Amino acid sequence: MLNIVLFGPPGAGKGTQSQKLIDKYNLVHLSTGDILRSEIASGTKLGMQAKELMDNGLLVPDDLVIGMIRNKLEAHASASGFIFDGFPRTVAQAEALDQLLFTQKTQISAMVALEVDDKELENRLLLRGQTSGRVDDANTEIIRKRIEEYNTKTAPVASFYQAQGKFKKINGIGSIDGIFSCICDVADNI
Ligand code: ADP
Repeated sequence: MLNIVLFGPPGAGKGTQSQKLIDKYNLVHLSTGDILRSEIASGTKLGMQAKELMDNGLLVPDDLVIGMIRNKLEAHASASGFIFDGFPRTVAQAEALDQLLFTQKTQISAMVALEVDDKELENRLLLRGQTSGRVDDANTEIIRKRIEEYNTKTAPVASFYQAQGKFKKINGIGSIDGIFSCICDVADNI
């Protein structure tokens, strides 16, 4: 199985690259942000718990997102692999993911980290906000909050995978196809 964690700050291009990866490698895309937004749109209890936190740029509690991922892994038991996009976002989530995959007799193949500086991220997110309809893309203060959450809670996840020898760093500035081919080099050499 090819199980890739696509890692990087908000606006790094994880969603764009995920789409290309699932097409090329026939993987199941698990984006916790997308799953949470669809829970909100359906008005579920989970969505209601998550909405205010998301709108304010804060992370949703670990147990909620871990439960969501557990359900999705079970629902796609025969998949040939997964792209984890926006998950794990804390070390506790990374540990839980290792456990979940272990019980399914598989593991993370690589963690691909897209690197983009904060100023470029802010510009990309504000631009996306003009069309995405996402409350959390609409103002600079919330965007900065998301980047701060990333730096304090999510960035340590890189060391978690580095300790396992699975951390691969990629420059997230450049053409979409150029970045994609760097990711494919990683995926093809696992
Ligand atoms: P982006 O990467 O552009 O910030 P996402 O769609 O991945 O966008 O996430 C949007 C919001 O959803 C996050 O700011 C957070 O509130 C919530 N979220 C998504 N994934 C997680 C996660 N794994 N753990 C906690 N909160 C999450």
